[in-house]
Amino acid sequence: MSGDTLKPVLEAIDSRRDELFALLSRLVSFETPAPPARNTTGVQTFVAGELKALGFDIDMWDVHPGDPNVVGTLKGTAGDRMKSLILNGHVDVAEISPDEAWETGPFRPFIRDGRICGRGVADMKGGIAGALFAVKLLKEAGLGFGGDLIFESVIGEEVGEAGTLQCCKRGYTADFALVVDTTDLAIQGQGGVITGWITVRSPQTFHDGTRRDMIHAGGGLKGASAIEKMMKIIAGLNELERHWAVMKSYPGCPLGSTTINPAVIEGGRHAAFIADECRLWVTVHYYPNEHHDTVVQEIETHLKAVAAADPWLRDNPPTFRWGGTSMIIDRGEVFPALEVDPDHPAVKLLGAGHAATFGAQPPITVSPSVTDGGWMGDAGIPAAIYGPGELSQAHSVNESLSLDQLVDYTKVMARFIHGWLNTPR
Ligand SMILES: [Zn+2]
Repeated sequence: MSGDTLKPVLEAIDSRRDELFALLSRLVSFETPAPPARNTTGVQTFVAGELKALGFDIDMWDVHPGDPNVVGTLKGTAGDRMKSLILNGHVDVAEISPDEAWETGPFRPFIRDGRICGRGVADMKGGIAGALFAVKLLKEAGLGFGGDLIFESVIGEEVGEAGTLQCCKRGYTADFALVVDTTDLAIQGQGGVITGWITVRSPQTFHDGTRRDMIHAGGGLKGASAIEKMMKIIAGLNELERHWAVMKSYPGCPLGSTTINPAVIEGGRHAAFIADECRLWVTVHYYPNEHHDTVVQEIETHLKAVAAADPWLRDNPPTFRWGGTSMIIDRGEVFPALEVDPDHPAVKLLGAGHAATFGAQPPITVSPSVTDGGWMGDAGIPAAIYGPGELSQAHSVNESLSLDQLVDYTKVMARFIHGWLNTPR
């Protein structure tokens, strides 16, 4: 990557910054909060139009009615001799509640004191605008795109409906993927999250009047309250959580980040019965270098041992249901982890592009949140998250983004996109 080749593009990003801000304002003006979702056809049609004008082939399909994904593909000029790249961003934004005091309304962005304000500027229409504008100015400067460039504009990130998963399942892959979500210009991976249901069930249903016979000397009735047995299960989860905190660690993550939250409990049928069923919904966090299958295995193994030490649970062990595809429909979800390899050539190139713009290497850290980057990790595509905006702004009232940061981000993206797509495979 030569500085001279890119000089006109970098200068144009400065001199045409108002166009970049207008592009971001336009994206924000589409009202795409999720929930309620099912409202992204307008913005996605707009993005598809922008990509088409730049020569991309467009693949647009409804993930849910009213929520289409858009994937643009720009075939490289060097066939498959140069590295390919996926750029990925979500167009849905965090929900708005009616009592929020926005200065001009969340979807009527305005600029003041060097910042642009509106829902989604930080999370993450700013990242999409920067990436799109970088591609546009590279294209206009006639700079060759050696490898294939795939631009994924997806839905459903905020509500865990995973438009990105659909892109992966549809077969979109590349030598590297960059998710342009909110990182305040750090290069980030992420830990994973999986939710699951643990159920304790009695094969028989007993009347409340049998409790004496069930719990006291000489009663002779082998039975149990599923709610009380669930207390043992929860105590077991607490022990495992503490054991993980003592034994596991990952650079950049606070110790003890591997939490098991007993988030929701349901059980019993009526005050006239012994509770014959109890269900616990748990949320489990794990480190970037762990896989949800292994984590789930550790929990099940531990709880089976807890059950084996109890005379009733031994015969009636808990059952498990992990993951799902929607927190709303299935009441279950997995957000896979993403581990960033600091020695991957694309990560090094991105770091170099950042250093050329800011005079210092970007931090490589772990996002405290979960993004679509996890789906890239899950699909085996080397990836990282790198985008403008602060996480404290994401989801906040009067969400704002520094304009200078957006301009600088766009320059880093121009350097990176051009450099990676012209790297021999
Ligand atoms: Zn986001």
